[in-house]
Amino acid sequence: MSITPVVRCALISFAAGSLLFGQTPSHQPKVVDAHMHYNGEAGFLDKLLAKLDAVDGVAFLLTTPQALESAKAAVARHPDRLIGFGDIKLDDPEVLDLVDRFHDAGFRGLGEISSPLHSYDDHLYWPVYERAQKYGMILLFHTGIVNRPEPSLAADISVDRMRPTTLDNIVRSFPKLTVIGAHLGNPDYAWAAEVARWNPNLYFDVSGSSLIKKQNDYTFFKSIFWWSGIVSPHTPKTGTTAWEKLVFGSDVFDGELEEFDRELERYHKMLDACGVSQEEQANIFAGTLWRILTQAAHPQNR
Ligand SMILES: [Zn+2]
Repeated sequence: MSITPVVRCALISFAAGSLLFGQTPSHQPKVVDAHMHYNGEAGFLDKLLAKLDAVDGVAFLLTTPQALESAKAAVARHPDRLIGFGDIKLDDPEVLDLVDRFHDAGFRGLGEISSPLHSYDDHLYWPVYERAQKYGMILLFHTGIVNRPEPSLAADISVDRMRPTTLDNIVRSFPKLTVIGAHLGNPDYAWAAEVARWNPNLYFDVSGSSLIKKQNDYTFFKSIFWWSGIVSPHTPKTGTTAWEKLVFGSDVFDGELEEFDRELERYHKMLDACGVSQEEQANIFAGTLWRILTQAAHPQNR
């Protein structure tokens, strides 16, 4: 049966409206990309939407404050493809107002949070995490090494404040918050995975240079996500597969959308090399984050 454009449009609006108003959406996409930067680059959103249509994907659009208005309009027009995230700085004196602005704009999360002046788990930042938890917003934190794009400029930045272990106290202190650590703590992979193992509200993506660095040794990641099927007093009862802690993120930035396909391919190669089942892979590429998004639309289930 063919569906007329008008009916199709109505169905899409219904699915999107369902998400906003807390009903279970009828359609789960094939890809949910947790890590898509947007700083208002000209023409980028059109290219991105075409790519997301092609792969049946949804992207968390990590939007800087200067790009808020253009992102807000795009998210409102394409709620079936774009989920707004507010790219905040924890040390910004206006940070709470900014969280409110992003939330009022219909954004579902905050990030990529990076380069704080204090460790992520410093209680100075508790008001930000409290606000995010109250709004049911997902947090995406950069973890591990960070680039230095302008080496001649002094910068008060330290990788030590962004270790994956700094997320542990946050997710324990805010049990209703969902947190994603970016880059699997590169190179603290073992710490990242172990912290996620004991915290049901913590996930990681493995975007960045790790899947390039390890391209000749992809089975390495089996030693990081090691506890699938293990029944023991020393492992969480709910953990059926260790791979449930991994989600997809492309880390596209500066409008370089070509990285999206390359990162998808690297993820597939690594997961195939590790013998990760198609069902587990479907959760990594979409299912896990889709479930979190739809649960967040059902606050009473959390
Ligand atoms: Zn990052």
